[in-house]
Amino acid sequence: MLEEAREAKEAGCDVVELRLDFLEDFEEPGRDLEEMIGGFDALGLPCVVTYRPSWEGGQYEGDDAPRLATLKMAMEVGAAYVDVEFLIAPVFMAALGSKEARLKAYSKTKVIVSSHDYEGTASDEDLRRLVRAIRAVGADVVKFATTGQDVSDGNRVLSIVKEASASGPIIGLCMGEKGQATRILAPKYGGFLTFGALSPERQSAPGQPTIDQLKNLYRLDSQSADTKVLGIVGNPVSHSKSPAIHNGALGRAGLASEYVYIPLLVDDFDRFVRSLPDEDWVGLSVTIPHKGAALAAAAEADEVARSIAAANTLVRIGEGKGFKAYNTDWLAAIVSIEQAMADNGMGAAGAGASPLAGKTVVVLGAGGAGRALAFGAASRGASVIVANRTAEKAVALAEQLQPAGRGVSLADLGSGAVGGDLDVLVNTTSVGMQPNDGESPVPEHVTSSFKVVFDAVYTPLHTKLLRDAEKAGAVVVTGEKMFVGQAAEQYRLFTQQEPDIELMTDIVLGRK
Ligand code: NAP
Repeated sequence: MLEEAREAKEAGCDVVELRLDFLEDFEEPGRDLEEMIGGFDALGLPCVVTYRPSWEGGQYEGDDAPRLATLKMAMEVGAAYVDVEFLIAPVFMAALGSKEARLKAYSKTKVIVSSHDYEGTASDEDLRRLVRAIRAVGADVVKFATTGQDVSDGNRVLSIVKEASASGPIIGLCMGEKGQATRILAPKYGGFLTFGALSPERQSAPGQPTIDQLKNLYRLDSQSADTKVLGIVGNPVSHSKSPAIHNGALGRAGLASEYVYIPLLVDDFDRFVRSLPDEDWVGLSVTIPHKGAALAAAAEADEVARSIAAANTLVRIGEGKGFKAYNTDWLAAIVSIEQAMADNGMGAAGAGASPLAGKTVVVLGAGGAGRALAFGAASRGASVIVANRTAEKAVALAEQLQPAGRGVSLADLGSGAVGGDLDVLVNTTSVGMQPNDGESPVPEHVTSSFKVVFDAVYTPLHTKLLRDAEKAGAVVVTGEKMFVGQAAEQYRLFTQQEPDIELMTDIVLGRK
């Protein structure tokens, strides 16, 4: 255990929790507590002693009397904190005597009184009542933990922690991935402390980030009440590299105390936006499946997002005015294709006409990314053919383009039924993505009809489609450029500053 405490100290923890109910050989409390707390003291690491009974979600199955006696013993040994459950706190506090007597007898120890709800999150009024009742029982630190059934539960908990922190130390957490913001944003909202696990396998509650993530990715030590919140909204979202690249770039630019970027597992986009605790949530990245809902929830939208009918970015406009929607997916991909064309003598990128003007671009897929790329290519003056597994969707999308394109089925493209000069092939289907990286959306021979092939999939970087295209002699453009490009444009919209693109690329490619 002391080894783990040392590990926690090295990872930057200020305090450790000693969960007595998890110990397998805790037979002589007097001796063991003295040894353990003495060991933590020697490391300069204060500890919270918790002995959680099964009736409050812990592992201890015995009677409460010896359990409470053990907590009292921890106070006698000089533990910095003991944690006692609200339901039995009146009994425990009565045994310690008056507050004055307690402070005199146990001057080194503060009492955390805690309440846990493993089912859900009560109403705001009930939570406020609970906080008042915990304080009234004599707690030095109030702790309540709920379970997040929806991301809005976590947002409500943050608001209550902020409000209650004005009247004394409080820890308010919402368990589970949907409540993770309460753990990451505890310093901003006035939380007394937050919990981190030594490693993902050693979580003591669901949704607990690791100490390394809290310290180095979300930079708890840099947060203040003024820190602005950014985040990636999706479902699923835990795999997203957006927190790593945005926080990495923010840190590199010296903006770590101004912004923190967090993952947000959201079921209902509208409900999420309505539940935001305050206007310090200034920017959101949006991914599958919320790009349509994000556009609908925004007060304003730029023309591109409106024509694509999907937004991947929301930026707060101003006090009480809501968000403006943007779509940064298309520009990043189009610019990386244009750059590759210019680098290979197919027309200059940047000023003047696009190298895509007058070219024929075949977009595979008619989903969110397909719409973005088809509109983007058309806006650069290319004639666009949309090829999709479901041909009707390809036809519908092609008809909306300006000028109108042509919609075909993927099978038609594979069988050679699509004639004419073809220039650029753009894959926006998910075919070829890990773990199915042996697959390609089109038969190998199709790639030989194109001079440039782009794949939006970037795990793996060199998809089967791109490997086939390289073999056929085409210029290939990998998908991380789109990912980094869309994130970089979001960063500009969020901060009005230029990000370190090289760093973002290194993070996406796992080089940092
Ligand atoms: P989406 O809206 O769900 O669209 C999925 C598209 O893929 C549809 O056209 C669908 O065809 C097609 N598809 C799915 N499975 C297929 C299969 N087995 N065979 C043939 N076609 C298939 O998803 P999205 O948001 O457009 O994303 C699509 C891909 O682009 C994902 O892999 C995503 O990771 C990637 N992406 C990358 C970036 C980046 O920054 N690099 C950005 C956005 C998206 P049907 O219409 O017939 O179902």
